[in-house]
Amino acid sequence: MFDETCLFCKIIAGDIPSDIVHADDVVVAFNDINPVAPVHQLILPRRHVASAAELTEADGTMLGRLFDVAAALAAKAGLPDSGYRIVTNVGSDAGQSVPHLHFHLLGGRRMAWPPG
Ligand code: AMP
Ligand code: ZN
Repeated sequence: MFDETCLFCKIIAGDIPSDIVHADDVVVAFNDINPVAPVHQLILPRRHVASAAELTEADGTMLGRLFDVAAALAAKAGLPDSGYRIVTNVGSDAGQSVPHLHFHLLGGRRMAWPPG
């Protein structure tokens, strides 16, 4: 549940400050410290899950809550008309730097495809 070596578990616990934009019993979201788009927020479960590779059908309700919050935050940021991207990186080739499942909500500029 809580991994004392995990940066995001420490942020969720309030041990490390962050710019929280949403918090409930399952989901926490905060602004990325190094934004790569005008809107760049991270949406994650309170429960420590290392990456999307560990998800199973049993996590369906939690995933629904994460995407519910992502859509609400996108709406709050005025993104639905222009569009936005939700990304999760798994492992080193994808560039995952924090091993606690998180979805990047990116918007406010045109996104390239394929991603770099
Ligand atoms: P990833 O590289 O996909 O694992 O994403 C990790 C993200 O966490 C990066 O975009 C970082 O900029 C962000 N990040 C790292 N440390 C912090 C922090 N203390 N507060 C907010 N975001 C952070
Ligand atoms: Zn964690």
